[in-house]
Amino acid sequence: MYPVMLDVTDRSCLVVGGGGIALRKAQGLVEDGARVTVVAPEVVDPLARMAEAGRLRLERRVYETGEAVTYALVFAATDDREVNAEVFADANDAGVWVNVADDPELCSFHLPGRVRRGPLQIAVASAGEAPFAVRRLRQLLERRFGAEWSEWVAAASRFRNRVYELGVAPADSEALFDRFFSSTVDAESWKARVPTATEEAEWISAPVSHLDRGPTAEDGGAKACRDGESNRGFVSLVGAGPGCSGLLTVRGRQRLFEADAVVYDRLAAPALPCELGPEVQLHPVGKEAGVHPIPQEEINSLLVRLARQGLRVVRLKGGDPYVFGRGGEEAEVLDSEGIAFEVIPGVTSGVAAMAWAGIPVTHRREAVRLTLLTAHEAVKSDGPQVRWDLLAQDKHATIVGYMGVTALPEVVHQLLGGGMDPSTPAAMVEQGTTASQRKVISTLAELPAAIVEAGLRPPALFAIGPTIGRSDKLDWFSRLPLAGERLVVPDAAGVVVRRLEAAGADVVPVPFPVTPAARVVMAALPVTGCVVTSPAEVDWVDDERGGPGWIDAARSWCVGEAAAERARQRGWRHVHELSAGLDCSDLVAEIAGTRR
Ligand code: SAH
Repeated sequence: MYPVMLDVTDRSCLVVGGGGIALRKAQGLVEDGARVTVVAPEVVDPLARMAEAGRLRLERRVYETGEAVTYALVFAATDDREVNAEVFADANDAGVWVNVADDPELCSFHLPGRVRRGPLQIAVASAGEAPFAVRRLRQLLERRFGAEWSEWVAAASRFRNRVYELGVAPADSEALFDRFFSSTVDAESWKARVPTATEEAEWISAPVSHLDRGPTAEDGGAKACRDGESNRGFVSLVGAGPGCSGLLTVRGRQRLFEADAVVYDRLAAPALPCELGPEVQLHPVGKEAGVHPIPQEEINSLLVRLARQGLRVVRLKGGDPYVFGRGGEEAEVLDSEGIAFEVIPGVTSGVAAMAWAGIPVTHRREAVRLTLLTAHEAVKSDGPQVRWDLLAQDKHATIVGYMGVTALPEVVHQLLGGGMDPSTPAAMVEQGTTASQRKVISTLAELPAAIVEAGLRPPALFAIGPTIGRSDKLDWFSRLPLAGERLVVPDAAGVVVRRLEAAGADVVPVPFPVTPAARVVMAALPVTGCVVTSPAEVDWVDDERGGPGWIDAARSWCVGEAAAERARQRGWRHVHELSAGLDCSDLVAEIAGTRR
């Protein structure tokens, strides 16, 4: 199947049939300027009215053999297959393109589902094999693309003409087009805007070399840079935050949606936006606390290779790229290879996990210094770089230790040896800010034993200092009704997602069809359940349940009898039926009430 857009202006087109389908075909053709003849003994009223208004020619009679051959395009939509077949044969033999409604075998072309925004058209087709899927996709697109796209494409057309009038070299006009596009289209939300006259004038009058200067504060700089003369690609070192997807920065998210390739660590995986399209290359490099399955050198050369292909690359790292993340080393490699890069900081886990555990890392008069350190350092054979003896003397301070599970006993030993008070409050937080968060609060002397008893595992951080004593009082997170739940919710049902999140759940909003990114996110941490609101959603989720990440005891909250019924048919266990009339807060209460 070969897609084209036909200019049907003033072309003679034939529609055989007078029902609803014939009407839609005739209307579409007339709207696009075709000269339409409708042949049918009887027609629905709107067709008759169109004929009366002179918008088409109506012949109230049966189709005559051979008459199709003089037209440019022919449609048959009668309820008589023999007539349809005759029309098809006549047209097809004469080399006239012909389409019989709902009869793929009698078609030499298919009509795509289309979304029209002025001259901008988006067509969806399945070679006639799955019209129902095309219809639904079209509806999705219809919702995604707002009316503003129509004005946007008109503005784009004006802009193009102005650029051509400038008579600049093709590479320069491409740079200008790129400026127009990246400044007016939000690749994440699929929103477009018309640029102001001032903006346009600025772009047109700016020397083109300005456009290639690389990322700027206010635009989607990575892309502008990529299309610059060198075409060497561009790497954004992006901090993914500590694990909770909402703690990825706005700019980090933007870069992900502009990316051609994402190279991510294991700890960064939960922050990938599920809606990232399947066209984005995903490269897991599996870096985890203490274990580096892919050597740093290979990660470095992967980044260089992707950038050299001219791609926009996001290097997504847990927490902040420069806080114990070897981001500095990666930046140095890029720099020495002459590859343009930027760093987008992230929320570091040492601060965020503590906040989630009720621990302010500083507090007026109580903790006036914050030390972030890597605990590995305490067990290095070539002697410590950290002056534990000095830290031990600092009463009004907080120490936060990364990569601290195995090294903790040695750290405690050093601090006690330096004279620190054994009863200093101390904590360890595992998987902070995620649904799997666990914390242990103890004292400096007793923390090592306490975490062994609780079985805490990496990734975890310890904190030592007076403010840890505030943890129970300030623990807002574990008090939330849905803290600890990681719920798959189909299709980002906006309000529901936000309410579940506000109630403490970690929500994985899975788009359908499921994207590879959504699968990575589901697998990144245990999925404890799902919330579905229709039988169709049950079907969607059914393909994913039991996949990596889903725990055996995963529960399903089904809104409405039909959804619950379908879930049971599908053999789901732990199905909870919620009444269809529930509003969002009831929903949270019901889910909280039926938790394990
Ligand atoms: N760049 C990261 C740290 C990478 S080092 C940052 O800024 O957060 C990896 C260590 O970070 C882990 O061993 C663990 O100590 C800590 N860590 C990362 N995410 C964590 C989380 N969600 N909860 C607890 N510790 C975490």
